[in-house]
Amino acid sequence: MPGPDISQYRDLDPVTRILMGPGPSDVPPRVLRAMAAPTLGHLDPDFLVIMSETQQLLRDVFQTESALTIPVSGTGSAGMEACFVNLIEPGDQVAVVVNGVFGTRMVDCAGRLGAEIIQIDAEWGRAVQPDAVEKALKGRQPKIFAVVHAETSTGVCQPLTDIVKLVKDAGALMMLDCVTSLGGVEVTLDAWGIDAAFSGTQKCLSCPPGLAPLSFNEKAVAKLNARTSKVPSWYLDLTMVGDYWGSARKYHHTAPVNMIYALRESLRVILEEGLEARFARHQRNSEALIAGLEAMGLKMLVPVEERLASLNTVLIPEGADDATTRKALLKQFGLEIGAGLGPLAGKMWRVGLQGHSSSERNIVLFLTALETVLGAQGVKVWPGGVAAAEAVFAQAR
Ligand SMILES: *Cc1c(COP(=O)(O)O)cnc(C)c1O
Repeated sequence: MPGPDISQYRDLDPVTRILMGPGPSDVPPRVLRAMAAPTLGHLDPDFLVIMSETQQLLRDVFQTESALTIPVSGTGSAGMEACFVNLIEPGDQVAVVVNGVFGTRMVDCAGRLGAEIIQIDAEWGRAVQPDAVEKALKGRQPKIFAVVHAETSTGVCQPLTDIVKLVKDAGALMMLDCVTSLGGVEVTLDAWGIDAAFSGTQKCLSCPPGLAPLSFNEKAVAKLNARTSKVPSWYLDLTMVGDYWGSARKYHHTAPVNMIYALRESLRVILEEGLEARFARHQRNSEALIAGLEAMGLKMLVPVEERLASLNTVLIPEGADDATTRKALLKQFGLEIGAGLGPLAGKMWRVGLQGHSSSERNIVLFLTALETVLGAQGVKVWPGGVAAAEAVFAQAR
């Protein structure tokens, strides 16, 4: 029998896009280079050093001293599942805030593990208010309270101070999805009193997708150690994964060696820039983008005080076609933005300014490109978008 015609598979040669969607974001070349370094054995003494360094860099970026801080093998959702699967025992009450896709996903995940869900709904495109949390927790003692810090489906950044206090008073563990905030918007686990947190590499960390940074503090570890039932997932069981990443170095599964190289390099990039400088850059760039969009006559979904700098949601102007616009941006300019999800599908675009993608160059290109592709559809916008964005950049210089 003749083999497959291998000539039909061309050399892999993807074009260079500008990734301004909900993730992945652009990856700095030095991170990609790190990934191409020779693969070591995953228990090679040299690799063990790299693992430990990566953990310490992760602690620095999460702003925590928690020992159990590791990259879970898998994407951000694996980080979510790792948190729940280790912390929930069947019948536990788990409170979850739902104001977007990722809150909905947490309810699904926790429900599958036999949790009794206390769902706290808030409007999509708005943060949950402390009084709604207070009402939902009244007279109840959930074991875990889970909330999305940066709701990528709506562009909302959830204020946490008041909520953490309510959660502590209720005696629950505070669990945070910081997939789209870590490395772009302030995340300070220890100072904020976050007990369990997870993230993903491909958003503001600007590393390819494939790992889920996770951190459990002592209280979360105590809940894990006090389980009366086995963790229902073998792969994500942190009692075993922790022995691999901890001092025991006991084989559990093979770490994705080259992905760890990439993560280590991306964390170095972040700490070289400095967390404060990085957060300030994300904030300034978001303000410049929005100044440009508003000068063009477009409107944002989220009120200014609840906006997420790393993911900006703009309402689709009248007369513009959602898919046509996004396709033209990609085809003519190599520029990717995100569509709306769920009830917001067709109503807005999601413009990511995450990590390496968050730059003056990209913003100016995007505003110009958007004006061009909207114009081609007969949608007139006001002139002066780029000038308005540039005014924000000039002020910061
Ligand atoms: C992207 C994202 C996830 C899921 O991460 P994957 O890497 O796609 O599995 C979870 N939560 C939020 C807020 C996200 O933006």
